[in-house]
Amino acid sequence: MSTLAPKTTTYEWMGPIGAFFMMIGLPTVVYALYFVCNPQSCSIGDVSHIELPAPSRWLSVEAIVVVLGWIAFQAIIYAIDVGKIVKGTKLRDGNRLEYRINAFFAFVASLVVYGILWMLGVPVSFVYDQYLQLTTVAVLISVLLAVAMYAKSFGRDLMLAEGGNSGNIVYDFFVGRELNPRIGRLFDIKVFCELRPGLIGWVLLNFGMMAKQKELYGEISNSMYLICAFQFIYVMDGLWFEESILTTMDIIHDGFGFMLAFGDLAWVPFTYTLQARYLVDHPVHFSYELVAIILALEITGLVIFRGANSQKDGFRRDPKSKSSQKLKTLETKRGTKLIISGFWGFLRHPNYTGDILMALAWCMCTGFNNILPYFYVIYFTVLLIHRESRDEHQCRKKYGSDWDKYCSIVKYRMFPLLY
Ligand code: NDP
Repeated sequence: MSTLAPKTTTYEWMGPIGAFFMMIGLPTVVYALYFVCNPQSCSIGDVSHIELPAPSRWLSVEAIVVVLGWIAFQAIIYAIDVGKIVKGTKLRDGNRLEYRINAFFAFVASLVVYGILWMLGVPVSFVYDQYLQLTTVAVLISVLLAVAMYAKSFGRDLMLAEGGNSGNIVYDFFVGRELNPRIGRLFDIKVFCELRPGLIGWVLLNFGMMAKQKELYGEISNSMYLICAFQFIYVMDGLWFEESILTTMDIIHDGFGFMLAFGDLAWVPFTYTLQARYLVDHPVHFSYELVAIILALEITGLVIFRGANSQKDGFRRDPKSKSSQKLKTLETKRGTKLIISGFWGFLRHPNYTGDILMALAWCMCTGFNNILPYFYVIYFTVLLIHRESRDEHQCRKKYGSDWDKYCSIVKYRMFPLLY
């Protein structure tokens, strides 16, 4: 019983009060970004242009059909027998779950279907026109899903997340009780939500913004091409390297509750598309010099992000491979070695650093007139600093004094000489 459902003894996220305010605050931010950043203005200091629509306009039948249809389409692809089956990391009870790997296939299938609909004349800019309604549907679905997952987590013999079984309803509902909620043997609800409807939806929402810009101005700005290309590559990268999600904190450590359901289905698609949406309302045309600077920043971030993730992933997967053997490592009592050369010898979280550089490049695509479109890089830096401290806490628990030794060798967390 204690292996499957250990009692949570320490709180993260400032406990139940923090969880409560995050459940109110996160959806508020999603809507606030929509209402403050509109065709009239996108300035935090200027809220005079905000007009809240009548409650009936927050939702539409079309938006419900589109979002439900989209999730069903992704679920069907995940469920069909395409793609290899791999084993996840060892669970507390010694078992390893199996996962179907076909997210990249889902991405390609989605692009093909989207392309066909576009060629048939389906107005893809609908997503701009009904952004508010689509947001509301996504928020409602994520809340309903979190409620369903909370109820499901009281089933028999389920493995609960170490951090999600405090007994406090608000806290456990927020962080998620069950570690790997599933339908049948292979449909993993957490992995499905992490990679498919929200992430692929983000790319297609961006394409809709691009179509809207063309519709309004007769041309697409180079800044719009940049942001859509950057985020397309980012999503494609995540889906191509789908297996590496199985070793992330979200999958190994966190339960599936409001935090992930809302994050995956509402927050990612409807805050990460802010830059492209902003460019519909406030198009920006860059000089070649500025394009070169933004491109250089994006490529630097991408090389560090991908290089660091692949180095660690390759090492964890096969420490005896040729490239892994070149790395210097620190032996630990836990048995797993820690890399102390290459990207991981330079910083303790080089992958986060690369991610932040890319985030900055994305925000720079919106030009320099407003701070609000830089929301993503500001929020994301805070998120990754917090995530880093959570991971540091976990690593200290896992590695004990070996972690201190590692920290004395690799001194900085994310920013050389600063942090
Ligand atoms: P990491 O992939 O960085 O994994 C952390 C784990 O790596 C540690 O717990 C430890 O586990 C292992 N590790 C740490 N240091 C070393 C070392 N020196 N050598 C070998 N192994 C080490 O963390 P995340 O799961 O948080 O992030 C994965 C990616 O996802 C990142 O690139 C991040 O930027 C991105 N991300 C993106 C988000 C978005 O919204 N766009 C949100 C969150 C993350 P162990 O030793 O047990 O293997």
